[in-house]
Amino acid sequence: MSLTVLMNAGPWLSVPPPGYGGIENIIATLVPELRRLGVRVVLASVDSSTLPVDEKISVFPDGQFDALQRPYNQVCGIAQAHLGGVVRALHTRDDIDLVHDHVEAVGLATLAAMGPDAPPVLHTLHWDLAKHPALYGNLEGGDRVRVNGVSASQLARAPRALRDHSVGHVHLSTPLAIDADRRPRPDKSDYLIILGRINPGKGQDVGARLAQRVGVPLVLAGPVGPYHRPEDLAAAGDEARQNPDVRFFYDEVAPHVDGDLVRWVGTVAGQERDDLLAGARASLFPLRWEEPGGTAVVESLALGTPVVATARGCLPELIEHGRTGLLTTDEEELADLVLAANALDADECRREAATRFTPAVMARRYVGLYEQVRRGATARRLQPA
Ligand code: UDP
Repeated sequence: MSLTVLMNAGPWLSVPPPGYGGIENIIATLVPELRRLGVRVVLASVDSSTLPVDEKISVFPDGQFDALQRPYNQVCGIAQAHLGGVVRALHTRDDIDLVHDHVEAVGLATLAAMGPDAPPVLHTLHWDLAKHPALYGNLEGGDRVRVNGVSASQLARAPRALRDHSVGHVHLSTPLAIDADRRPRPDKSDYLIILGRINPGKGQDVGARLAQRVGVPLVLAGPVGPYHRPEDLAAAGDEARQNPDVRFFYDEVAPHVDGDLVRWVGTVAGQERDDLLAGARASLFPLRWEEPGGTAVVESLALGTPVVATARGCLPELIEHGRTGLLTTDEEELADLVLAANALDADECRREAATRFTPAVMARRYVGLYEQVRRGATARRLQPA
């Protein structure tokens, strides 16, 4: 296939990311599969990105993520500067067939504003679409700019103008799903795990109260705001409370974290994360928001850990109730489901992941969308003004 895609990863983190980085992880998962399918990839990222690609463009030497802790008026130029580099590249070269953009808000706004002489664009919406109502409500990308969601439920809630630009959704994938059904069966322990950023939407407070009530061990893994380790949060003192997720942790979660039955272990990565997830009896998602894509959900399945969750956002699309997990619309019922989850079969979960959530499945779907977006854009150009 002769197709050159400019993959716009943005200026925040290198690809693959050094630690936490959902979008950059997905790009690092997608790009090798695209290249296997014959797609040429020009990566617009920061210079420190190490992902093998055909070409790299960058404005910044390394990830600018830490700047996001500063006030808006001190950081709002960063994404624009990165996009400036992308726009310059698109204006000065004619080999880019399509831009696959992952930069929240600024990517979509800038690429849409470029007008008809820019290449077709597919912008992936990785986040909660209740954000940016002004941008999404007024989007005018014609047939050249298209968006895709990461779940059907996410798009169903999108503003009309955004839905009009949509070519559908692509579920997230994980490298852990490759041959997930052929790995040795994991040894299971008794604990539950909640893997994710600690914040009200992810509902760690609900999980911690539940664990204390039913007497089941619970591991909370993930950062609290910018703090990845309990000792870093402790060292930050009272100033850390300026961050809303820190306040949530101290006020709602920490009172139930006794370091014994309920533990917060900070951010876990690599083999440690995989072992912790694979060893759990179930992973718990006591959600209080409409989870848009659920990377941790598909990772859990790939590692043979059934999912117990509130049936919100993408959960009903990813989990089959009674086979790969247990879902409820009633928070009070979660405790019963946690106890019932022992009856679920780890192999069913792993088979599901190996069938639906591999990088190859995701890449084939994106190549199909690239073709669809390009066809739509070309047809429009051929029409008289
Ligand atoms: N994650 C991790 N270590 C942690 C907590 C989370 O590596 O301690 C990863 C998790 O495995 C997943 C990502 O962070 O890949 C979270 O993505 P998800 O879509 O579940 O949630 P988001 O943070 O994007 O809302």
